[in-house]
Amino acid sequence: MSITENLLKIKNELQENVKLVAVSKTKPEADIIEAYNSGHKIFGENKVQELVDKHEKLPKDIEWHFIGHLQTNKVKYLAPFVHLIHGVDSLKLLKEINKQGAKNDRILSCLLQFHIATEDAKFGLHKEEAFELLQSAEFQNLKNVQIVGVMGMATYTDDENQIREEFANLKSYFNEIRDNFITGDYFNEISMGMSADYKIAIEEGSTLIRLGSSVFGIKFYTKF
Ligand SMILES: *Cc1c(COP(=O)(O)O)cnc(C)c1O
Repeated sequence: MSITENLLKIKNELQENVKLVAVSKTKPEADIIEAYNSGHKIFGENKVQELVDKHEKLPKDIEWHFIGHLQTNKVKYLAPFVHLIHGVDSLKLLKEINKQGAKNDRILSCLLQFHIATEDAKFGLHKEEAFELLQSAEFQNLKNVQIVGVMGMATYTDDENQIREEFANLKSYFNEIRDNFITGDYFNEISMGMSADYKIAIEEGSTLIRLGSSVFGIKFYTKF
């Protein structure tokens, strides 16, 4: 199936409150253009340089989401245009995002990334760390960042019950934050679900699914 057919098929199944981030990392610009021409405007990348390059070359009404692990020294490259930063997992990073947001006269939207998987390698905050961060005066003084929701990645496993439980945990953190820390109605996004597990994620309350291979296929593009 073509990229356009994949997108149509997936979007037809989605309820209105779930948005699709087409994860275009490692994909050539032609693939993004095909998706764009079919009416899709939301794309996600996990490398800063690749995102900056694609932003420069591609139509300016694309909404770019950064979904990777962001290093503080690279925030400045994204700050002028990024729509949403999914993987924020420290106060240090938030402070830098705030600083670059101020320089660009923007309020940068971010998601707090939680560690919900059993694997060690994945980034993310634990619940107590996140709540401490949200309560700190330092965080509350940041005027050029806005936490608009949460993000997480489930364990890579065939065990559907485990995946479901991890997503349910993320949803419960979202609820606790909304009830105790961030009451503004801008706090409304739950970024969870990739190609292998997005149906479970939606059942557990996802509002942003991040799909790469199910949109673009599994063939990777390399410059070699
Ligand atoms: C690559 C990636 C995705 C998309 O993965 P697929 O399995 O291809 O859908 C989603 N989220 C993050 C953070 C990724 O790095």
